[in-house]
Amino acid sequence: AKPDPILTVDRIVRRFGGITAVDVAHLEVQRGAITALIGPNGAGKTTFFNLITGFDRPSNAARLIGGGDARWSFNGKTLTRTGASQAARAGMVRTFQLTKALGRMTVLENMLIGANDQPGENLFVGLFKPLWARRERENIERAEELLTRFKLDAKKSDLAGELSGGQKKLLEMARALMSRPAMIMLDEPMAGVNPALTQSLLEHIQALRDEGTTVLFVEHDMHMVRHVSDWVVVMAQGEVIAEGLPESVMSSRAVVDAYLGAH
Ligand code: ATP
Repeated sequence: AKPDPILTVDRIVRRFGGITAVDVAHLEVQRGAITALIGPNGAGKTTFFNLITGFDRPSNAARLIGGGDARWSFNGKTLTRTGASQAARAGMVRTFQLTKALGRMTVLENMLIGANDQPGENLFVGLFKPLWARRERENIERAEELLTRFKLDAKKSDLAGELSGGQKKLLEMARALMSRPAMIMLDEPMAGVNPALTQSLLEHIQALRDEGTTVLFVEHDMHMVRHVSDWVVVMAQGEVIAEGLPESVMSSRAVVDAYLGAH
């Protein structure tokens, strides 16, 4: 297939004191594909997620530092100087390594918060009550549809805190889908998921791709990486050191060395 990047990143650097957590010269994520971002602990994967989703700022965001500004664009929009809400509005949503489900709210309430992640949703609530009521009905319908899809519908009135680790991951995914994102970014979707749910998680991810949603995920579980990804990008010490088809990348010398070097 001809390349059609949904995300293009150039020269993104993030330093924490003396540590260069991320130093990515160039990276593209192809539209409609499942891309895995792998690498040893501390490679900079989560920091990279934080940067492109606007939850953190690159060290070279300002023109003060030499070597050129960081630049990245998503779905035709330059996001370099915007924050998390603009990234979400452009159609990029993410989940977190530690799930952010709000334990003291119900599963359905968590979903409706996902709908409010769309910036601007709340702006004219007072002025446009009828419109708001319709929007709210639509949100509830969408939430219920997604909960059914993720087999959480029977739990919709339960507190999110009472779900198992795997169910919380599914809830996070379902919630991220409330805003119909063009790309969903999953940070270690398999961590804390019991074996009974792993297969269904893999199937959900593939189904998303088959519907046209681009998927970018960080994962240490190599079974998952091998089985669901169309493309694998390898980071080590903040840099992209290899990328390619799962089988060839994961058996390459540089990648094996990067993992061994980390221990
Ligand atoms: P893991 O696979 O263990 O989650 P990772 O590839 O996601 O690792 P990051 O969490 O992005 O790696 O960390 C990259 C480097 O940046 C590490 O050396 C980490 O200690 C450092 N780092 C990350 N966040 C901060 C922070 N807020 N303050 C200081 N150092 C940080």
